[in-house]
Amino acid sequence: MRDGRPEFTIAELKRNEQVLREREKRFYSLVQNTSDIITVIESDGTVNYMNPATERLGYRPETQIGTNAFDWIHPDHMERALTLFAEILETPGVHPPIEFPVPHADGSWRYFEHIVNNKLDDPSIGGIVVSSRDITERKALEERLRHQALHDPLTNLPNRALFANRLEQALLRRPRRKRSVAILFVDLDNFKLVNDSLGHELGDRLLIVVAERLRDCVRPEDTVARLGGDEFTVLLEGVSNQGEVIEVAERITQELSQPFMLVGRELFVGSSIGIALGAPGEVHPEELLRGADEAMYRAKSKGKAYDLATGPDVNSRAMRRLELEGDLRRAIEREEFRVYYQPQVLLSSESIVSVEALVRWQHPERGLLLPYEFVPVAEETGLITTIGQLVLEAACRQARAWREECPKDRRPVVFVNLSAKQFQQPGLVRQVTEALHKTGLEPSGLGLEITESVLMDDAHSTVSMLQRLKALGIQLAIDDFGTGYSSLAYLKRFPADYLKIDRSFVEDLRKDSGGDAVLLSGIVTLAHAMGMRTIAEGVATAEQLSQLRKQSCDLVQGNYLSKPLPSRAATELLTNRL
Ligand code: C2E
Ligand code: MG
Ligand code: MG
Repeated sequence: MRDGRPEFTIAELKRNEQVLREREKRFYSLVQNTSDIITVIESDGTVNYMNPATERLGYRPETQIGTNAFDWIHPDHMERALTLFAEILETPGVHPPIEFPVPHADGSWRYFEHIVNNKLDDPSIGGIVVSSRDITERKALEERLRHQALHDPLTNLPNRALFANRLEQALLRRPRRKRSVAILFVDLDNFKLVNDSLGHELGDRLLIVVAERLRDCVRPEDTVARLGGDEFTVLLEGVSNQGEVIEVAERITQELSQPFMLVGRELFVGSSIGIALGAPGEVHPEELLRGADEAMYRAKSKGKAYDLATGPDVNSRAMRRLELEGDLRRAIEREEFRVYYQPQVLLSSESIVSVEALVRWQHPERGLLLPYEFVPVAEETGLITTIGQLVLEAACRQARAWREECPKDRRPVVFVNLSAKQFQQPGLVRQVTEALHKTGLEPSGLGLEITESVLMDDAHSTVSMLQRLKALGIQLAIDDFGTGYSSLAYLKRFPADYLKIDRSFVEDLRKDSGGDAVLLSGIVTLAHAMGMRTIAEGVATAEQLSQLRKQSCDLVQGNYLSKPLPSRAATELLTNRL
């Protein structure tokens, strides 16, 4: 023994050396042959090794030795790179993946994901090892999804979601002097007639031209959006008086009253416009939009080109909301909520393997109400927690009953929707556990659907919440995928079993099987790569179904297969014919 270390025999040393050399050889060949680019850099950024995969970027590795890693960083990202590098130097070991563009020898920029391992303290390496993988395609898909989520595919104008977002931002901005924000709600007058008599194709073309004319009526910094159908909105910021807005309304009226020349025909449409003005900090975005909408209806019914929203619109709306809140409280006491179930069919076996629970309100005077008429108010008032609990329990009880009533291979998993408030409430895990316990349903029989936008809201805390839910043994689905800000990097970290592709992608399948089918198949491939199954929502035609089959989508749900059904009818469907 010398210095407390054991002495080896020559033979042992030789064997040891051989093992080390073998290991080194294996490591070397691994690094030489991997498709990831591996760079070893020193603490001042000097590159001292790059593997052959560097040639994927058009460089020979040996020409890069001795250069500085920061030469690879785009100027826009330099500050972030320097901050991250300082952190990396401080902490040995592997760091979370980071994304940076890197230059290709042909002059283009490619997107890479880099995993950095600080091995400065490891005498066998003595450097920082960076493994870099090309994610340019994933980024491009993300970009397309983001665009699709925020734009109307027909006119390429911002859609309702983007418009709402811009309006909100405009109303949050600190007003310069006394400036207002104005909304013009533009509705075409004869659109339905054109569409019904001359066909959708011509109708679509007309909308495209209308969009162009509207854009020409405003400044580049104003927003023109299409909310859907023949409804357009214009957002004007920095307005100093009402006269300015009326001027724009008159210009639009004038432009849209000019004939449209389409396939050799002259078409006349015309418009009705509702105007609402408000100052930041004084008016709620929804109030402004509602005010403009109601003013537009007034203009239309009076045969005027435009009308202005006045105070009472806003008040009557607040009144209605208050009434609805009272009604909702009573509805909970009187047990007026019903749960409907919509089947989800596995395409490979053509059988119903799951159902989605959808809440309805059996209103004593207004009849059966759909979620859009009361869920938003229930969310705002917090009543959704109580309603959600009712739905969850009813769904678990029903799932449990089906375990008895259905043959073994036909017991559906029941999926329940969670809204933002419910997902963020601290007692959620306990609520779910209790519902399972109370009804005797095994966890694998229950699924929860959470929309993509809720998940992305605070992706960090989302991951841990999902993990806790997953640990209960239930299934998780990401709902309405494609309508929010999709960060595909995060998606990978959500422990979800299903990805539900939003209805809008399925709808687009009808029009052309080209462009959006590509996007859809991109989503399916991505979901599969992340170990998730896909469910297409809102399948309404045989054509869409066959397209989805071609795209290797796993499950389908929609009115073409079955509308949401009350308990009794759903039970009949599950127990009798399949
Ligand atoms: P979702 O989770 O995306 O539910 C799917 C919606 O698509 C359902 O609307 C369903 O009836 C509808 N749908 C299915 N097939 C078709 C089709 O072929 N064409 C068309 N146009 N629509 C189809 P529903 O029942 O009106 O529910 C709307 C939304 O309300 C749901 O969207 C969900 O986000 C929410 N919701 C429903 N039940 C609950 C609940 O119990 N709790 C919470 N928090 N939200 C719920
Ligand atoms: Mg859902
Ligand atoms: Mg959905």
